[in-house]
Amino acid sequence: MLYEYNLNTGKEEFYDITRQVAEAVSQSGVTDGTCVVFCPHTTAGITVNENADPDVRFDMLLALEEISPNLEKFRHGEGNSAAHVKASLCGSSVNVIISGGKPLLGMWQAIYFCEFDGPRRRKFYVKATGG
Ligand code: ZN
Repeated sequence: MLYEYNLNTGKEEFYDITRQVAEAVSQSGVTDGTCVVFCPHTTAGITVNENADPDVRFDMLLALEEISPNLEKFRHGEGNSAAHVKASLCGSSVNVIISGGKPLLGMWQAIYFCEFDGPRRRKFYVKATGG
């Protein structure tokens, strides 16, 4: 079964969605397998990173801003090319192993929805598969 979640985002931020992913996995009934967390947007992404120190999220955004600043040479008329670049750098999905009915994550890992061009009403999908 496919699970869909909605999110109201700020301008540029990482949102911890580990709880929603664990909830979807639990509801799916899959105890051993994999799950895909997918973001259907072109200026947002999904990643796994540290959950302990919030400064890591701050630094990630800072580094992405250094890697992909807004350039006057950009041609895309919507004016959000830097966000498109960040979304591709980040990726639009992650795969997580399901073990014992739960996403198998390291102690310091969380799954994040990454907003690069908010505020917007966003969604993401979780699909768990057994085997
Ligand atoms: Zn655009």
